[in-house]
Amino acid sequence: MANTRREFIRNTAAIALTAGTVTASSPEPDDWFDRPMRWAQLTLVEDDPRKYDLAFWLDYFARTHSDAACLSAGGCVAYYPTKVPLHHRSKWLGDGDAFGDLVAGCRKLNMVVIARTDPHAAHQDVYDAHPDWIAVDAQGRKRRHWATPELWVTCALGPYNFEFMTEVTKEIVSRYKVDGIFSNRWAGSGMCYCEHCSKNFKTATGFDLPRTSSPQDAARFAHSEWRQQRLFELWRLWDSEIRKINPRACYIPNTGGGALSDMDMKAVGELAPILFADRQARRGLMPVWANGKNGKEYRAAMGRKPIGGIFSVGVEEPYRWKDSVQTAAEIRLWALDGIANGLRPWFTKFSGTLHDRRWLKVVEDIYGWHHRHERYLRNEEPLARVALVYSQQTAHLYGGERAREKVEDHTLGYYQALIEARIPFEMVHDRLLDPSHVDAFRVLIFPNIAALSDRQCQQILEYVQRGGSVVATHETSLYNERGVRRPDFGLAGLFGASFDGRLDARMQNSYLRLEPGPGAAERHPLLAGLEDAERIINGVSRVHTRTRGAYPNPPLTLIPSYPDLPMEEVYPRVPKTDIPEVFVRQVGRGRVVYFPWDIDRTYWEVLSPDHGKLLRNAVVWAANEVQPVVVTGAGMLDVTMWRQKESVTVHLVNLTNPMAMKGPVREFIPTPPQQVTVRLPGGRRAKKVQLLVSGGTPTVREANGSISLTIPSILDHEVVAIDL
Ligand SMILES: [Zn+2]
Repeated sequence: MANTRREFIRNTAAIALTAGTVTASSPEPDDWFDRPMRWAQLTLVEDDPRKYDLAFWLDYFARTHSDAACLSAGGCVAYYPTKVPLHHRSKWLGDGDAFGDLVAGCRKLNMVVIARTDPHAAHQDVYDAHPDWIAVDAQGRKRRHWATPELWVTCALGPYNFEFMTEVTKEIVSRYKVDGIFSNRWAGSGMCYCEHCSKNFKTATGFDLPRTSSPQDAARFAHSEWRQQRLFELWRLWDSEIRKINPRACYIPNTGGGALSDMDMKAVGELAPILFADRQARRGLMPVWANGKNGKEYRAAMGRKPIGGIFSVGVEEPYRWKDSVQTAAEIRLWALDGIANGLRPWFTKFSGTLHDRRWLKVVEDIYGWHHRHERYLRNEEPLARVALVYSQQTAHLYGGERAREKVEDHTLGYYQALIEARIPFEMVHDRLLDPSHVDAFRVLIFPNIAALSDRQCQQILEYVQRGGSVVATHETSLYNERGVRRPDFGLAGLFGASFDGRLDARMQNSYLRLEPGPGAAERHPLLAGLEDAERIINGVSRVHTRTRGAYPNPPLTLIPSYPDLPMEEVYPRVPKTDIPEVFVRQVGRGRVVYFPWDIDRTYWEVLSPDHGKLLRNAVVWAANEVQPVVVTGAGMLDVTMWRQKESVTVHLVNLTNPMAMKGPVREFIPTPPQQVTVRLPGGRRAKKVQLLVSGGTPTVREANGSISLTIPSILDHEVVAIDL
């Protein structure tokens, strides 16, 4: 078994490494992928064929200048006269062809058309003919659909997808010559214990299917790898069958995301010529910048390849009011933050029959503006100089079931601090730390990226040797790529600190002392903005460290926890220690800042402005250069900066709103004036400067390779467009 397992892991690694060569992912001249800038998705419901208004939808696509459409074709329900046995035709299809009519109409509008399939649910006749196609739960029961109990949940990794859905896919592409197939919920609905999964997993790995969720369980790990391998196999199968019929078409899975997503984004990015970030709206306590974060996460793996940003017009809470409509302001701000972060807008509407028409004008306005200024929205590259690293292996193998709190909350905290600091930034995938992916950045931030291999640590070291700077927090590099704790940080040499064997998981009432610099005259720039403070609150969790070599004058030292009750006991037992709570160093031409505590996670929980300043100052000090764009003025803005072929743009999304951290936004609050200074790339001069939202040509001062201007007010969004 050990041999089988080793071989399996080796094979998996080989597959991951060669994923990019299986399908041509570099755009060919006749590829359509980069053409569409605005997507329209109409997801039909089963009774639409008798009800929906074809002319209305085609007219709406034209009015919104949508240049691509995603239309429901088959899978759970076929909206065309399918001949594939067991492919369930809509009961209301009759002699018609709802999908075909829409395709023909969109083609007349010169739109790219991709067909949507959804294989996750099947009807009773499928169950009766092929009970083995149905997913099985841990107790061995075939799974009824959780929302529609007369349907059955299908197994994604067996013959239902590999055989039946392959026939469906081929039929749709042959009949309609669509440009691609986009599958929703194609990757299964949780763990499946069916006969195919049991047998295939055993054959591949020697293990029985795991019944634990512990990420350190060998069978569990093997299953996660095997499942991905199987899904990549399915992706390649569908893609190659599609291309045999239409070489310009491709398969596009609905997949991807950040640290918590389950398919390796490095391999996804290599395989996909185009992807769509499916984060339809806010739910729960979600900040409005979360849509922009999607764009950054996908781009980390996709690079210059196009990414659509799917936004829904409805409410996205667990109660799934799929026929609802959000406020106009919420729809706008969500879509605009995606656009500002490089996503090409994609509206999705479920049901061709409208129950609430309030969203129509909102989307038409956004798309109309987007169409008018398309030239300035066709980005070539982001000009951010800072990047936040994310790590799926850290989330899965170190975070496990607590990944949200142990991993993602660190990222969210640092993300929020960068937004408030108005520092444009990108995200970087931890398996893409090679020079071609990181050397555009001056600073890489590692927000508790705990699980890193020796190779990854070496890449980070080499990045610093080439002049890059690093900011890291908490347990970064204390675990290997499998989530197993190391005796010392993989990056101990870079941090100038070693692990001292202990972790305080929860500190109560602990503080940080702000120390004078050498000569007592001046504090370290890390403490800028805190001149009037002697001490500030500490975080919640702390790694014990030992200083490696001399480290005089640490800017922050620990004041240990002391009782917080009864009040008579609340006085510091130790007023001062020499235990550093930040390590700041120059390493060659690079700079390194390491916080051995959970400053970013605590920031997400507590939002202490003092911590926000430290997080900002760490990046500014590490960057040690003039920022590409500086925006001053009151309010919270998401600031991004882009290069197009002949221009540079700076997007400013106004997040200043009582509902910024939990929607929905009711109204926009206009900002006071903002001073903007933009460093022009490569010493270029500005030919023309425009404000693309409020309109007009601002008064511009140009000096030292930079331009400065004042934006009187931003309602929801502004774009400074600079022709070079
Ligand atoms: Zn199965």
